[in-house]
Amino acid sequence: MWQRLTEGVRIESIGTETNLPDPLGELARCHQCGQCAGVCPSQKHGGIKPADTMVKLHLSLLQPNAPELWLCAMCNSCTERCQLGVSPSDRIQEMRGRATLAGHCPKSFQEEAKLFMRTGLAFPNSGLTKKLRKELDLDELASDAQTLNELAALVKATTLGRVPLER
Ligand code: SF4
Ligand code: SF4
Repeated sequence: MWQRLTEGVRIESIGTETNLPDPLGELARCHQCGQCAGVCPSQKHGGIKPADTMVKLHLSLLQPNAPELWLCAMCNSCTERCQLGVSPSDRIQEMRGRATLAGHCPKSFQEEAKLFMRTGLAFPNSGLTKKLRKELDLDELASDAQTLNELAALVKATTLGRVPLER
């Protein structure tokens, strides 16, 4: 289905499932001050541009398979900086969830999720990590069965738990 959203612009509709409701008018509050852009480490390195993303979201121009969604480091700096309560990082997180349900979660993120569910770690416990932890006199990283079960329950309560993901 095609939808005219703004004068002269036609985009493929992403459907109500991937369009975010804006009941509190938070997106409409964004006046493009660029404060979030100024503190975004991702934008600094050519990644997501939170202010631009908020505009696209408000105009329903953000596609569920937009790669920019996955370039956010989820540092929350944008949300802390925004004085109008737009909460860009929360919006991006919501869109990621919707993108995941629509089958657009990148493979690298899926692998990370699987590793997390299997080991309790989002990144491999490499030889270097072990060496550095030993040098710092820290315990070895390991998750017992009870911890892994608790993690699995937590994952199940998230969007990730609603998509088929082999452990
Ligand atoms: S989201 Fe907030 S900080 Fe970012 S441009 Fe909009 S009003 Fe400014
Ligand atoms: S949460 Fe994402 S969009 Fe916001 S400042 Fe951090 S990296 Fe940028």
